[in-house]
Amino acid sequence: MANCLIDNFEKNVFNDEVMKERLSSEVYTKLKMAIDNREKLDISIADEVASAMKGWAIEKGATHFTHWFQPMTGLTAEKHDSFVSFDKNKKMILEFSGKELIQGESDASSFPSGGLRQTFEARGYTTWDCTSPVFLKETKAGVTLCIPTIFCSYTGEALDKKTPLLRSIRAINQETIRALKEIFNVECNKIDVSVGPEQEYFLVDRDKYLKREDLIFTGRTLFGAQAPKSQAVEAHYYGTIKENVLEFMKEVNIELWKLGVYAKTQHNEAAPAQYEIAPIYNTVNIATDHNQLTMEALKRVARHHNLEVLLHEKPFKGVNGSGKHNNWSLITDSGKNLFSPGKMPHENNIFLFFLTAVIKAVDENALLLRMASSGPGNDFRLGGHEAPPAIISIYLGDQIGDIVNQIINTGDAKTSKKGDVLNTGVDSVIAFRKDATDRNRTSPFAFTGNKFEFRMVGSSESIACTNIMLNGIVADSIREMTDEVVINKKNVREVIKETLTKHQRIIFNGNNYTEEWKKEAKKRGLPNAVSFVDSIKALIDPHTIEVMDRNKIYTKTELESRAEIYYGVYAKTINIEAMTMIEMASKQYIPAVIKYMDKLSETIVNVKQASNSADTTVIEKLLNDTSILLLEAKEALENLKEKVAIAETKPEGVKRALFYRKEVFTIMGALRYPIDKLELLVDADLWPVPSYGDLMFN
Ligand code: ADP
Ligand code: MG
Repeated sequence: MANCLIDNFEKNVFNDEVMKERLSSEVYTKLKMAIDNREKLDISIADEVASAMKGWAIEKGATHFTHWFQPMTGLTAEKHDSFVSFDKNKKMILEFSGKELIQGESDASSFPSGGLRQTFEARGYTTWDCTSPVFLKETKAGVTLCIPTIFCSYTGEALDKKTPLLRSIRAINQETIRALKEIFNVECNKIDVSVGPEQEYFLVDRDKYLKREDLIFTGRTLFGAQAPKSQAVEAHYYGTIKENVLEFMKEVNIELWKLGVYAKTQHNEAAPAQYEIAPIYNTVNIATDHNQLTMEALKRVARHHNLEVLLHEKPFKGVNGSGKHNNWSLITDSGKNLFSPGKMPHENNIFLFFLTAVIKAVDENALLLRMASSGPGNDFRLGGHEAPPAIISIYLGDQIGDIVNQIINTGDAKTSKKGDVLNTGVDSVIAFRKDATDRNRTSPFAFTGNKFEFRMVGSSESIACTNIMLNGIVADSIREMTDEVVINKKNVREVIKETLTKHQRIIFNGNNYTEEWKKEAKKRGLPNAVSFVDSIKALIDPHTIEVMDRNKIYTKTELESRAEIYYGVYAKTINIEAMTMIEMASKQYIPAVIKYMDKLSETIVNVKQASNSADTTVIEKLLNDTSILLLEAKEALENLKEKVAIAETKPEGVKRALFYRKEVFTIMGALRYPIDKLELLVDADLWPVPSYGDLMFN
């Protein structure tokens, strides 16, 4: 019987099974050792591996191959080469050599480098990363063999997000293995950073999408009055999924299964037209690739169904935004999850040690995490009533929170709270023991049973940045705590107690959405960067530079280049939004409002002509209200044009970004305000673009 899951799973992945089948056992063993990070990749096997990949890919219809990499745009990049070549008799042959597999050279000057590379020193190298599987991209347009690679400059600096990610995996491996061995006497050769990203997105009708320049150019609506019904009744969350959406989801799942993505969960999210897809967790390197492939598949498949996917963090003002919950844990090569509390967490020193290391790391680097999980779009979401605030705090839950309190207050923890039996009052259902801890959906960084769920990450962001920083800061924190035990000869419980006492301010179990928490957090000295621009400085903070350099994840120069890129990204993003607003206001909204005023004026004249005694006060009032708002809009429009022109004269970097944030962004709000009011006044037939209601309820 045909089954679209079984029939398709890993169909397009050069997986272990295919490797075993197509490689000699000697080459297979060498490659496997490298994949498992146990040995350096042996270059002599490259030709045989490339030849096997070529054979496999060609049988499946591939005509091209590409090095697939993740430059600092946050997207993926590819440059296709066909397998075509010729032999000495000028006869066409298909070729893919070991060298082509291992290394690519590209004129990379058009990728952002943040000053790492001048245009006249444009060489960039892509190098095969065998720890992420090779796969086939199969679309209606053909099949391409994709080789996951890292991307570095001529001088070896990372020009991408994968190189630092791999470095961070090495760092956290090194420190975790050391701690396990030297403190707890546990032999471990390798740990996996496990990550399961839950991806939220909006789905809208493509014809309507195409009528909105703001959605096309910026991914979010820059204008739009609230629909009469938004999410107030919460009817959408977990609601029955509509059939056309299910058809779309089915195709996405099949595409992802083919690529070996464990696409698992799908459901309606809180806002109308909002959905979520989540895979089962994977090792962070593969999870990062898979999340990129998931975003691509969502976008591509939507178009087959005349739909459009919006990955922006806040496509609609006043409506729930989209995030990407980054579930994160550390698992040893014997399958032990280091964040598994076990039955007696208060006695579980390994668990308490690693938990404490995370608490310390998050407290010491909160602003960095805020930065790493965001882009300009996340500003609209953080601090909204539905998403975590821009302040980072950790939720531990009742059970672990209680243990931490015992340790801080009494120096030791003697008991662990137990989950009660769930009392439903219904005899026919099985009674079971609840989790010892409830959830806290308001927390940006929640301990959820055996993993941390970092909810701040923006829906359009690559998860690489977040996990690079998370791995790096936790590695450093583990190292410091291990030194306390191993070098300073302190008892491990004592180190845990000292560290928790020092960093307890980051723990918060209450409601993160309240004003009181904002005040309390300020008292505790926790950073609250409302804007992404204000968080970028965390990248070049001396503490960050020290931690990242010590753990060989980023050099100072690499961090500086990233800061420069982000300031540029911020300025460009707001520039594009402002220009789009100017265009829409000038060419669409204002002409539509004038048409409406014309219609009203004509009506007044006509009514008066028809009857001397007829009262036109209401129509005149409408005309007057409209003209007041129109004037307000026109003034803001002119102001916005001026401000953008000034912004572009500011020196690139932090100055320009701040000008865009403080000046341009504010005027954008001043332009939106009257236009949104006008939308509620003006005849719907005259309104030039689909409304929030049209976009979200169809
Ligand atoms: P929740 O409903 O609490 O968010 P789920 O079980 O739905 O939790 O899991 C959410 C995501 O977390 C999924 O991608 C899941 O595979 C992932 N996940 C579960 N356990 C772990 C773990 N130990 N490490 C990392 N991710 C995990
Ligand atoms: Mg979740």
